[in-house]
Amino acid sequence: MDQFDFNNKRALVRVDFNVPLNDKHEITDDTRIQKAIPTIQHILSKGGAVILMSHLGRPQKKLKEDGSVNVNKYTLKHVVPHLSKLLGVDVQFASNCFGAEAKSKSFLLNPGQVLLLENTRFHKEESKGEEIFAAGLSQCGDIFINDAFGTAHRAHASTTVVASHFKPEEKGFGLLMKTELANADRVLNSPERPLTAILGGAKVSDKIQLLERLTELCQNIIIGGGMAYTFAKAKGGKIGESLCEDEYLDLANEIVAKAKANNVDIYLPTDTVIADKFSNDAKTQIVPTGEIPDGWEGLDIGPDTRVAFAEVIQQSKTILWNGPQGVFEFENFAHGTNAIAHAVAKATAYGAYSLIGGGDSVAAINKAGLGDKVSFISTGGGAMLEYLEGKTLPGVKAIID
Ligand code: AMP
Repeated sequence: MDQFDFNNKRALVRVDFNVPLNDKHEITDDTRIQKAIPTIQHILSKGGAVILMSHLGRPQKKLKEDGSVNVNKYTLKHVVPHLSKLLGVDVQFASNCFGAEAKSKSFLLNPGQVLLLENTRFHKEESKGEEIFAAGLSQCGDIFINDAFGTAHRAHASTTVVASHFKPEEKGFGLLMKTELANADRVLNSPERPLTAILGGAKVSDKIQLLERLTELCQNIIIGGGMAYTFAKAKGGKIGESLCEDEYLDLANEIVAKAKANNVDIYLPTDTVIADKFSNDAKTQIVPTGEIPDGWEGLDIGPDTRVAFAEVIQQSKTILWNGPQGVFEFENFAHGTNAIAHAVAKATAYGAYSLIGGGDSVAAINKAGLGDKVSFISTGGGAMLEYLEGKTLPGVKAIID
């Protein structure tokens, strides 16, 4: 988009304003809005007008009893005051994302003005990627800019199909999208080595494809969190009541074998903090990972593992982190995740490049107060995961095609 002439043009920008709201409809975390500001300001500074479209929540999945959408809860109008403040511009609002009102308001904008369209997901046609609906959206702009990396893995009308209504020279990536892709590409295509991936979180099944890809890309793969117990059981260990996906035991062994064949080192927890119930105030013990007694479950990596993982991280030049190492939402089981957050921050201070992707690891690094001590925090959980897995994101493809 840096090369576009926005002067006197209406730029239709797909942003990700899917922000959390409290019961009073106040924004509790405005990161996603903040991240879209540079793109909007760039267009305004070049003499363009900006028409913003986004989704907010899943109103079609939470219909009211009479079958209608809950406009009061999911309206993007809640975002207008804060957005106006951040931009220093009175943001206008259209009560529908397509149709006469949206179209006429977009045509009446002067350069420097901003219009926010109502929640695209008020219409079921959005998620279905319906052509006629996408054509309606496209009428609100002369140029289409996609800056919603967080939804680029969805082939929805406003993220993907709408782009087909613009010529190649009329569509492009926003600054956030460009930065997200550049950071992911840095890890995928030109990492300084050793490249270490740290995976965690609840399930192996969510990250199988990523794991397989990583066995072709990395020097080291660290596996913690709930997913580590499937690996521990696959090796013949006792894991008590810990999280496990029995149908993935063979695949876990296959991944270990594949890594070995590719000279990739896989690091699994050697000790574990176990709990007698899934609760912050559970009784705890530290035991070897493959020796968890019945009635107990592993909720965090143990102290020896933290040290061993940190050593690998210290020696890395590129680090990718996706997934917490334990149930970090419970303070007593957040030590492993915090140790990893500190190790990643320290390695970054010593010159490593670090990319944090995935909602929970982002929350964990921010909770540890280290958000500004890593190289890049991705805004796109699912989208980043799919991109790293090697999938083509529909929202990206639609701009390039
Ligand atoms: P994911 O969305 O797959 O990255 O999973 C994140 C979730 O995994 C977080 O809510 C963590 O509490 C959870 N998690 C991490 N480690 C464990 C564990 N050992 N047992 C149960 N849940 C875990």
